[in-house]
Amino acid sequence: MRLVLLGPPGVGKGTQASNIVKKYNIPHISTGDIFRANIKEGTKLGITAKGYMDKGLLVPDDLVVSIVNDRLAKDDCADGFLLDGYPRTVDQAEALDKELNEKGIKLDKVVYIDADKDILIERAIGRRICKQCGATYHVTNNPPKVEGVCDLDGGDLYQRDDDTVETVTTRIQVYLDQTQPLIDYYRKKGLLLDVDGTKPIEEVFSIIANSID
Ligand SMILES: [Zn+2]
Repeated sequence: MRLVLLGPPGVGKGTQASNIVKKYNIPHISTGDIFRANIKEGTKLGITAKGYMDKGLLVPDDLVVSIVNDRLAKDDCADGFLLDGYPRTVDQAEALDKELNEKGIKLDKVVYIDADKDILIERAIGRRICKQCGATYHVTNNPPKVEGVCDLDGGDLYQRDDDTVETVTTRIQVYLDQTQPLIDYYRKKGLLLDVDGTKPIEEVFSIIANSID
């Protein structure tokens, strides 16, 4: 199963990503994770990428493309993968098509989890994160058993500085503006699965799974 997962910040993409990779037994390929791993291992790609990131610059497309292509060439991707955070642009989507074409394979589905902007804002400002393990909670939708304390390890929960209404609104709008051409690109190809991310987590997952199966 070869999948791409798209969705604005706060839509619950992370949860669905773990559900999907568990059910279909495919690797979860997140560009953020790949960059972090390459930087940690001090690979050539990692060093180059870090150079851009340290300057606060976006990592150029060709570098992102080659870093993902390297990852897709690994054995565990032979039977499928879930791409998360890639492609971000139509250029990257075309590069991905080209890479898959060369391997004689193609994407099965592009899952787009969407939600109304106001709901995403409300979700983001209620988010609390564990200082120790990074687990996320929500003050109303997914509260910890004890207020301010992580269920898993008892760590303190905090709110990110940039989870304010203003920054969240900007973050979501930027995502939507940037992603729209990509949505159109995949819709035209008949690959897009639109999922309403305001539904309960289990329901969102069963919609996705039913469509994939
Ligand atoms: Zn924790």
